[in-house]
Amino acid sequence: MNYRHAFHAGNFADVVKHIILTRILAYLMRKEAAFRVIDTHAGVGLYDLLGDQAGRTGEWREGIARLMAAELPEPVAGLVAPYLAAVAAQNPDGQLRHYPGSPFITRHMLRDQDRLMALELHPADAEALRENFAGDIQTRVTQLDGWAAIGTHLPPKEKRGLVLVDPPFEVKGEFERMTQALVKAHARWPGGTYAFWYPIKDPRDVQSYAKALRATSIAKILRLELTIRLPSTPPRLHGTGMAVVNPPFVLEEEMRTLLPILAGLLADEGRGRFHIEWIRGEA
Ligand code: SAM
Repeated sequence: MNYRHAFHAGNFADVVKHIILTRILAYLMRKEAAFRVIDTHAGVGLYDLLGDQAGRTGEWREGIARLMAAELPEPVAGLVAPYLAAVAAQNPDGQLRHYPGSPFITRHMLRDQDRLMALELHPADAEALRENFAGDIQTRVTQLDGWAAIGTHLPPKEKRGLVLVDPPFEVKGEFERMTQALVKAHARWPGGTYAFWYPIKDPRDVQSYAKALRATSIAKILRLELTIRLPSTPPRLHGTGMAVVNPPFVLEEEMRTLLPILAGLLADEGRGRFHIEWIRGEA
């Protein structure tokens, strides 16, 4: 387990991933009934952008820093407001220094009745995450294999909510593992919303992932992707993807509004592309 998210915190992929996360949560909040978020690969929760790791790569400068500097038109500004509010909450003096990971962003949006379950397998990261949420009765941090949790912690007792799956993709076979995990999770909890993040490095991997998802019997899967440069050899990260199962019915339209703007902001000049497709259902 060598992956350290701190090197990438706040980069273009985090921005897109976390905006999608907040749009799903904003939709869940339309109803009073409680929901639960299960974050299977949670990371440490909070990142110092000027610290050793994030500071060394500076990836956030082409991610969250660009978005914060932009003048956003409506309705885009309204759609990203919950995400930017979660970032602002960690930077009370208005200077961007700390970046909230998925558990902090989720926690920022929870109401009193909602719960977060955050899983992290790396011992040091799990400990840091636990310290970050010490004393918080709405959040449970567990050092556990997120893949195993999918088999045991579903469905949540609220019967509403989101499972966010954001693995590090440091071992081969992660795309296959995502499909297997989804099929298993969906069998236990067909009504849940699931968001599976994936890197776009080698377009062939992404095509076979989409094909594998298409071959499942799951009714609704929305594919959301943004690329910021052309593919290269050897393959390097040039895009970010999310497969959302049972998405809120407004998500497709919201992303049709957001992704063109994000492509313009986050990509190399003129190179931004986005792709929205129903892998299953709704077309
Ligand atoms: N979701 C976080 C966010 O958006 O801020 C970032 C997560 S990072 C991409 C992936 C994390 O998964 C790393 O912190 C890594 O230590 C952890 N991890 C790796 N394998 C895991 C497993 N089997 N179960 C749970 N966590 C795992």
